[in-house]
Amino acid sequence: MDPRAVETLQRVFGYEAFRGEQSEIISHVVAGGDALVLMPTGGGKSLCYQIPALVREGTGVVISPLIALMQDQVDALRAVGVRAGFLNSTQDAEQRRQTEQAFLAGELDLLYLAPERLGLESAQNLLDRGRVSLFAIDEAHCVSQWGHDFRPDYLRLSMLHERWPSIPRIALTATATDATRREIAQRLQLTDARQFVASFDRPNIQYRIVPKNDPKQQLLTLLRTEHPGDAGIVYCLSRNSVDATAEFLTQQGIPALPYHAGLDSATRQRNQSRFLREDGIVMVATIAFGMGIDKPDVRFVAHLDLPKSVEGYYQETGRAGRDGLPSTAWLAYGLQDVVQQRRMIDSSEGDAAHRRRLGAHLDAMLALCETIECRRTQLLAYFGQDYSNADGAPACGNCDTCLTPAESWDGTVPAQKLLSTVVRLWREHHQRFGAGHIIDILLGKQTARVEQYGHDALTTFGIGGELREAEWRGVVRQLLAQGLLGVTSDGYGTLVLTEASATVLNGSRQVRLRRDLEKSTARTRKPAVADLPGEAAGLFERLREWRATTARAQGVPAYVVFGDATLRGIAATKPASLGDLAGISGVGEKKLESYGEQVLALVAESAEATPVG
Ligand code: ADP
Ligand code: ZN
Repeated sequence: MDPRAVETLQRVFGYEAFRGEQSEIISHVVAGGDALVLMPTGGGKSLCYQIPALVREGTGVVISPLIALMQDQVDALRAVGVRAGFLNSTQDAEQRRQTEQAFLAGELDLLYLAPERLGLESAQNLLDRGRVSLFAIDEAHCVSQWGHDFRPDYLRLSMLHERWPSIPRIALTATATDATRREIAQRLQLTDARQFVASFDRPNIQYRIVPKNDPKQQLLTLLRTEHPGDAGIVYCLSRNSVDATAEFLTQQGIPALPYHAGLDSATRQRNQSRFLREDGIVMVATIAFGMGIDKPDVRFVAHLDLPKSVEGYYQETGRAGRDGLPSTAWLAYGLQDVVQQRRMIDSSEGDAAHRRRLGAHLDAMLALCETIECRRTQLLAYFGQDYSNADGAPACGNCDTCLTPAESWDGTVPAQKLLSTVVRLWREHHQRFGAGHIIDILLGKQTARVEQYGHDALTTFGIGGELREAEWRGVVRQLLAQGLLGVTSDGYGTLVLTEASATVLNGSRQVRLRRDLEKSTARTRKPAVADLPGEAAGLFERLREWRATTARAQGVPAYVVFGDATLRGIAATKPASLGDLAGISGVGEKKLESYGEQVLALVAESAEATPVG
């Protein structure tokens, strides 16, 4: 390892050692090699290009699609004393000119560029006239059409290699199955680059998937019992449910803001900025929100609707806990989700191959929801990685199925009863219905509709007394998830048989089902600050207040001043000198100089205020 890299890590960023593959990646790029880096969100990708850019001669050029976040990225770098700038369409001509000047004069360590800018001849000439140390291609999966964030401008990035063949390139992404990885390598002409595939595990995130019954109340309970005062993201499928959920949380006294494509861009920008800058805001959003949000202290990501793919789910949940502290990924999922998603696929535009692909994505997501095995093991397997814990067992101990082992049961007979009701209605009456009515028939309920159609005469009427209504809904959901039952695209959730249904009806196939737990995993986690001892918790709160004031005065996000992990380190060790403070992770040279005295004064004050006994 180049000693300058370690020195930079410690002096500038205030971190003791490299994590995982950072050290190898950085050595490789410092030496001029091309790299393709796959690392989960929060894995520490930024340092992989920032440190080589600081060590190598010239300016590191970072291509990023996230124009709205460039200012924050640059602010965060400046806060640690790195000379950074950006060029994008939000600037006026004068601001651009100044940045260009700084670049040409060799006064920038890092320059952020939007991909569309690279297409401009003027930008290319600019790069020719200055000195570029490396190209970093962030969010590299945007070049892939298989993924869900495709950006046409990214296709043009193969020109980097053609025009500047001797400048090293490092492409980075947090989402990549094998298919995406191959596509990235090929489209960016990085097939000869060294590939670094880190473990995709995020051990500090607790994955939980619960049956959905009263989603808003379930969410509220989660926030109140486990995450009071924490920042987090709540994902909903539709704009309406985003608005309704944000309003509900606000009424309940939780500071929540909406974010979706239906809001005007000024409102979106304002809400995003508050989420980043203030402590403890809950962002309720469609998946339009979140790419590139580097807020390190997002404590939970909650999904109120089923994500469309495991890739999307993993990327969204990965936004929790970048700082490495315990965080929650929570998803509520029910029958309606399956019905809705199957319908959306059936009525989606595009050819049959496209629909098949969507169907495959959904099936993988459903399998994750219905598994009785460790969620983490299954997630990592999806990305082609094996998981085993310290004892070599394929279970993590930090997901709902590990914490409260789920059971499976033989659902063959109930499945047959249900499917034969669907068959009889169709054969004998040429009628089709949704889950509600079919369950009423099985339970023998004399509803108005049962009487109207005379369905109490069906041989399956009242034969389903062994399960309660909620359990029957679980059976329907799981049969849909396993493809043993289908749903039409008429929008009414009408149930139909699939080809595979026959194997259940004729008894040649056994149906294993997951037993839904009555209650979702009981409270498994205390609020984050609780594990600091009493006086340290008090100091932590005071440090947070100081941080909020300082960040506001400077117009930067709170985490740009110090991350939670650093504040906790200070609260727990109570440094008495600048030397002690410098030893805490996240305190580098520049921050020591900017904030050292203030922090020491706060620590001393709180020591005085605490009676020694
Ligand atoms: P990614 O871009 O992969 O999502 P980041 O680069 O934002 O991840 O890093 C996630 C967090 O981890 C950041 O707060 C970063 O400062 C911190 N971090 C990265 N590398 C190290 C390290 N070697 N030691 C301590 N903290 C680190
Ligand atoms: Zn597990």
